[in-house]
Amino acid sequence: MPLRTSLPAQAGTVYLVGAGPGDPSLLTLRAAQLIGEADVIVYDNLVSTEILAMLARPDVERIYAGKERGNHALPQEQLNLLLVRLARDAKRVVRLKGGDPYTFGRGGEEVETLVEQGIPFEVVPGITAAAGVAAYAGIPLTHRNHAQACVFVTGHLKDGSMNLDWPGLARRRQTVVIYMGLHGLQLLCEKLIEHGLPPDWPAAIVQQGTTPRQRTVAGTLTTLPGLADAAKLKAPTLIIVGEVVKLHEKLAWLPESA
Ligand code: SAH
Repeated sequence: MPLRTSLPAQAGTVYLVGAGPGDPSLLTLRAAQLIGEADVIVYDNLVSTEILAMLARPDVERIYAGKERGNHALPQEQLNLLLVRLARDAKRVVRLKGGDPYTFGRGGEEVETLVEQGIPFEVVPGITAAAGVAAYAGIPLTHRNHAQACVFVTGHLKDGSMNLDWPGLARRRQTVVIYMGLHGLQLLCEKLIEHGLPPDWPAAIVQQGTTPRQRTVAGTLTTLPGLADAAKLKAPTLIIVGEVVKLHEKLAWLPESA
């Protein structure tokens, strides 16, 4: 069997591709190849513009699919059908998503539609924000002395609340990574304390990780909401909770602007 990386992009196929967390050099080889061969690229707001500028053909059709908070340029249903239509037009379609397409990216929903409609597809994983941000912020997600488990959750607020398994999250010896959590940060910290984590438990929030605009704000469950407010952070941000956050001071290597 040939390596997948040697297969050229096929007409009429949808490639669901992870673009990584920001730094274009964190793309996989397969992602770079497919972006370069695509006839049409349907991309989200989290995909760095450098990636398209560097790798896409100048004549490629670019379709912005949105996905900023409160600004869905295209409803999910329409987007799923758009992918089907483009593939039926015999296009080589790259559906490019920030991070990894199967981690909080609705990639599963898009592929379900492709399967139902009989459209050939391939899924190319990407470095998810948790992995990229942790590496660039000097916060190992697991560590023999601090955390034997790591959980990824979405902190998206729904009607002002967060429906999460609080007893499961408020555990020692594990790291919790919260995607989409900035607006619910205060509530998140309160709930984790209410369910048993110490008020001085380490927690950090990282803005635009892996990019030149990366900023890390570290504190505790008690201090982090105030520190984050004062820092006026810009999306996207990722929250990391757990003892491993204490390693940031020692292990950070990327120069950050204040
Ligand atoms: N599929 C993506 C996640 C999409 S959800 C992935 O695997 O990374 C979008 C959320 O991801 C953002 O709200 C933010 O919490 C997080 N995120 C994505 N890129 C980020 C970055 N460069 N820095 C910090 N957080 C990021």
